[in-house]
Amino acid sequence: MAEEHSIAASNTLSSETLISAGLAESGISYLFPYQRLVITNILEAARSAGIPFINLEQTLPQIIDIALQDESEREFHIDGVPPDSDQEVWSGYGRQIVILPTGAGKSLCFQLPARLIDRPTLVIFPILALMADQERRLRAQGSRVVVLRGSQTTEEREAIASVLRLPSNTLIIANPEVLKTRQVRDMLGQARIGHVVIDEAHCVSQWGESFRPAYLELGEILAELKPPLLTAFTATASPEVLEKIGRYIFNDGDVHIVMGNPDRPNISYRLVRTLAKEAALRQLLATLPRPAIVFCGSRSRTEQLARALRYALHSREIYFYHAGLEREEKKTVEEWFFKSSTGILVATCAYGMGVDKADIRTVIHFDCPNLVEAYLQESGRGGRDGKPATATLLWGPEDEERTGPLAEYGRNRDRCRRELLLTLLTGGRGSRTELTGTVGAVGAGGTAGAVCTAGAVGGTETVGAAGLPGDALNGTSRTEAEMIEPATYTGAGMSEPVTCTGDEHSCDICSGTAKHFWREKPGITRLIQQNPRYFTLAEAASHLASQPALDLSRDEGRQILLSLIEEGTIRESRCPLQRKGLVATG
Ligand SMILES: [Zn+2]
Repeated sequence: MAEEHSIAASNTLSSETLISAGLAESGISYLFPYQRLVITNILEAARSAGIPFINLEQTLPQIIDIALQDESEREFHIDGVPPDSDQEVWSGYGRQIVILPTGAGKSLCFQLPARLIDRPTLVIFPILALMADQERRLRAQGSRVVVLRGSQTTEEREAIASVLRLPSNTLIIANPEVLKTRQVRDMLGQARIGHVVIDEAHCVSQWGESFRPAYLELGEILAELKPPLLTAFTATASPEVLEKIGRYIFNDGDVHIVMGNPDRPNISYRLVRTLAKEAALRQLLATLPRPAIVFCGSRSRTEQLARALRYALHSREIYFYHAGLEREEKKTVEEWFFKSSTGILVATCAYGMGVDKADIRTVIHFDCPNLVEAYLQESGRGGRDGKPATATLLWGPEDEERTGPLAEYGRNRDRCRRELLLTLLTGGRGSRTELTGTVGAVGAGGTAGAVCTAGAVGGTETVGAAGLPGDALNGTSRTEAEMIEPATYTGAGMSEPVTCTGDEHSCDICSGTAKHFWREKPGITRLIQQNPRYFTLAEAASHLASQPALDLSRDEGRQILLSLIEEGTIRESRCPLQRKGLVATG
């Protein structure tokens, strides 16, 4: 009973805490932002698939105690927002293609979740030498690991099978060829694999059709194993390679593509404080370039907003998209948006699987997500072609109640938004200045080198890594692990400085255009100040609605006035003999 209770406790922890626990256990103290993205995706997807996490209370009691106290205070999970059945939850992406250059710390992206998930992880390597190398390292770290090779005897296989019969977080290393054996497949089928990882997935494209036909059968094998989580790593990512990985590994199903570097210098991050989000959205969409995507927190909101926008903007090129659509409907909308150069898609976080549109110029968040990871990935849908794009977060009075990292983003008044997002992603560990070091600081453990680039979908993007610690650094020992300290961070694909450069791609803070007040406030306060007691609430709302320049409905006008009354900026006159005219306070 006690054990069941402890396991349940682990399952209530946020990904952030689970990651900290996993790091503490491996003796590693720092993750690069993209590593954190990939790992969070895996853990969140595991959670939503109902996979239990291992009993961390036994191995790391102190960390878990502190974390539980911490989380109950911070309400990290629920973020003060009550769950809503219509809400589309960002549960991470259980099926992902991760584009990372060789030596960018890829192993940690699957080793860390493997330690935390209470199910076996199967890692498929293309080369026997890589398998042997991984086995040696994993054993040195104290991981439970078994290797499936072609030439094993019946006794050896039986020994492996008996390990796999125990419920555990074993790592299974294999190559594609050995998986073709019926006996191995049956053994794996019974092991209830939680996560399958395909290393060097581009081999599907390069070798599959010539001398490694086993790669082409991976899809079939995976369809049989049905792992809840499936991650494919690739260093090269031409559209052709991605297409083949999608076909042969993911059986042409939905798959999420993660770029190695979450820093997007071509995106200008902005925040608009508004008392009427819908009106602000209409006005932004009327001026910002297209194609545009508007992210919402719930399915019903996408439908309602798309309808309202079609009417307001006199456009038919506006559709909605969410996980509740039929497969055919999704496909139709995806194909329309993919080709559209002037369209607006109103979507939940479900958008982004499969097709990856490179030329989205405008991303607007109508609702603020709960996780920094989600905000970075969704805003990162813009400008995949490397050309300028904007990412705007609409911030309303209800968002002021938020807690957690994105609340800090919303309340930020002086830090570069790009820099802040990346800092929040790394769990607030240090600022840019603290993280700055030199490539040389990587020392003996690092593979200091030039910036690598890898082709991305629909264009190229620097995914690269100067001075990144290589896979060799992934926690083989504490001494080596300590070299993955913030000092090496300067090379994490950041060939550009993390803060904006002050050009047109700069965030609103760096360009000096950020407004720290409600956008509607100055004009309306002035109107009431100049006409004290002249308007009642209803009359003022009508007056606002009659001003074409404001483009507000009566309801929106009323909503804004009520917000300003609640805030105490204006109030209704209290004199009982007079009508309740509005007056400005202060
Ligand atoms: Zn900036």
